[in-house]
Amino acid sequence: MAHQWLGLLNEYADRLPLVEGDPVVTLREGGTPLVYARAISERVGAEVWIKVEGANPTGSFKDRGMTMAVSKIAATDTEMIACASTGNTSASAAAYAVAAGLRSVVVLPAGKIAAGKIAQAVMHGAQLIQVDGNFDDSLRIVRALTEAYPVALVNSVNPYRLQGQKTAAFEIVDALGDAPDIHVLPVGNAGNISAYWMGFNEYAGRAVASTMENSYQRLEPVATKVPMMWGVQAAGAAPFVAGAPIANPETLATAIRIGAPASWDYAVAARDDSKGQITSVTDEQILEAQQILAAEVGIFVEPASAASVAGLLQAAQAHQVPEEARIVCTVTGNGLKDTKTALAGLGAGDDVEAEVVRADVDAVAAVLGL
Ligand SMILES: *Cc1c(COP(=O)(O)O)cnc(C)c1O
Repeated sequence: MAHQWLGLLNEYADRLPLVEGDPVVTLREGGTPLVYARAISERVGAEVWIKVEGANPTGSFKDRGMTMAVSKIAATDTEMIACASTGNTSASAAAYAVAAGLRSVVVLPAGKIAAGKIAQAVMHGAQLIQVDGNFDDSLRIVRALTEAYPVALVNSVNPYRLQGQKTAAFEIVDALGDAPDIHVLPVGNAGNISAYWMGFNEYAGRAVASTMENSYQRLEPVATKVPMMWGVQAAGAAPFVAGAPIANPETLATAIRIGAPASWDYAVAARDDSKGQITSVTDEQILEAQQILAAEVGIFVEPASAASVAGLLQAAQAHQVPEEARIVCTVTGNGLKDTKTALAGLGAGDDVEAEVVRADVDAVAAVLGL
């Protein structure tokens, strides 16, 4: 009988900080495809696999952290979860609030909210509050709400989120039989690179700085090694490349448009301890990688996700990719989240152009060259 993946809290229960009596709030996240990418392998002269995180329930890896964080929140008498995001965090938070039977609120600066960005949160019943102030004001209010009311914050400083996210590294090792030589992923707030590094180390039986004290490192090692961590930022939002926060980050890859990453120290440790690197790529390189993934591999990702592949292609051009290396690129979110940018990248507008042909099978066949 086919086995249904039970969600990462159930599948990796022995390595996550759930305790007896905690509810498991799950939409069966995780267990995402790891796909061999021949087209990219040939381009870089190595063995390249793609970890498809857009296959999670709300279309991004944020669900891994949210199932963990919201399960812990649901164990308390909190009534509502709150965040100050328009992106994948708000979509995921709103969905897991539904699954937990909690209310959710998204607090944002007043101004125009692009419907596309917030559509998921709205569909999942999140309450939207626009405050007369900037993003920092929104975050300050959300924090203050959590101090005075039964409201919990699910932004990226919630330590449980990275614990959930580390399971992506477990899945990769479980699928490949050992850790890859190199792991490549986009870096924004830098939570994900920190979480993967925790996961790879834990599976190799190595101690590493973690968001939480844990005893899981006492379990038998599953991997014999850890990969080099290669983080990739957008050129207009590359504080790790600059070595300092950036005041006005700019990139069309909105999910990584972050100037002052929350998980700075963990990410620097991941980069340095793994003998890895954090590089940057331009928006043009990101769009090109997005198109290669869609047209040559069959995976449609959102722009931020394509940064990993763009960074790998750039490293290959600079002859930095060891021959025959086994490489995994994480693509973090689903392309359906932002079709506008993708089509604009192809030079197409909102209306996709197609040739108009007489309604006749022979005419259509002729145009197709059949
Ligand atoms: C959140 C997010 C990122 C950035 O991850 P960090 O943990 O902030 O570095 C990248 N891509 C997508 C699609 C995201 O949703």
